[in-house]
Amino acid sequence: MSIRVWDYLAEYAAERPDLLDAVETVFASGQLVLGASVRGFETEFAAYHGVDHCVGVDNGTNAIRLGLQALGIGPGDEVITVSNTAAPTVVAIDSTGATPVFTDVRADDFLMDTAQVAAAITDRTRCLLPVHLYGQCVDMAPLRRLAERHGLAILEDCAQAHGARRHGTVAGSTGDAAAFSFYPTKVLGAYGDGGATITSDASVARRLRRLRYYGMEDRYYTLETPAHNSRLDEVQAEILRRRLRRLDRYIDGRRAVARRYADGLADTGLVLPRTAEGNEHVYYVYVVRHPRRDTIIERLRAHDIHLNISYPWPVHTMSGFAHLGYRPGSLPVTEALAAEIFSLPMYPSLSPERQDRVVHAVREVLSTL
Ligand SMILES: *Cc1c(COP(=O)(O)O)cnc(C)c1O
Repeated sequence: MSIRVWDYLAEYAAERPDLLDAVETVFASGQLVLGASVRGFETEFAAYHGVDHCVGVDNGTNAIRLGLQALGIGPGDEVITVSNTAAPTVVAIDSTGATPVFTDVRADDFLMDTAQVAAAITDRTRCLLPVHLYGQCVDMAPLRRLAERHGLAILEDCAQAHGARRHGTVAGSTGDAAAFSFYPTKVLGAYGDGGATITSDASVARRLRRLRYYGMEDRYYTLETPAHNSRLDEVQAEILRRRLRRLDRYIDGRRAVARRYADGLADTGLVLPRTAEGNEHVYYVYVVRHPRRDTIIERLRAHDIHLNISYPWPVHTMSGFAHLGYRPGSLPVTEALAAEIFSLPMYPSLSPERQDRVVHAVREVLSTL
């Protein structure tokens, strides 16, 4: 039987009664858009992070885009982020009219190299946008110091880091705002699309609520600046409420899978994920590194094991961002990683038996390289 890099069907079988009850709850509620489930989820998701406001939106890309706009970022501004991320991080910045500026990542944990950020700041820089990549947090302390010194906003991209902590502080609770995706594969996933932006700044929250709803105030129907429709769907919100209560259990399940990989693959020459000092990793993806990556992936396919690469093309090398003017070689660590990284199957309901099959197959392939 084939093993995919992500699979939700075992989890669905276990949660089916609760999920179908969530659907029934919304269908029978009498309010299908921006009703009790969106409000309830927003309250509970804000509380999980210890922040004052959460605004549910239709996906993670819009959570970033509207987050930036609510922070006042737009044309002419520069936003410092990384190229070693999912393309939507950069698509969202670009869609506001602002210019993405890239820093390289660290070779050991693949996270933003915060030591390079100061050199990237210009008089047009308005925002720092760290990505808590693969499930662990960027060190926010140096970014906060720079933000204070230069008067910059911070938006955290938490799409891969629900529940991740650094020195006990949960991802998304230290920036001026933080954006989440609930795409199904994420650590907290919906059964379809969803996203949210959280903040403790009441005026940012108010702008977010307008931005997701044509530019209107929910109650008074005044419209000053026209905006799009980016509402979170009521059914997805109710499903997310149910699943939020189990988030810490999903994280425990991912950590158990990570421990079994670490035990089974310790002495193989594969470079395994490194958790930065002070971090509590949630393993959105389990990214390993090997110079013969493409051969390994091809041979594992013969074992019916299907792997993924997050991400094979650094964003600054994509033709859609050629106008930013980066050349091959401009971000050496990011470019070297892209040629060597791949992700092993990772999801909380991955059974030990299936995982053993992956470990045995990887060991066998590596021993015959
Ligand atoms: C998934 C993801 C997004 C985009 O989320 P969508 O819900 O797919 O729009 C943005 N940033 C990162 C880092 C992601 O992993």
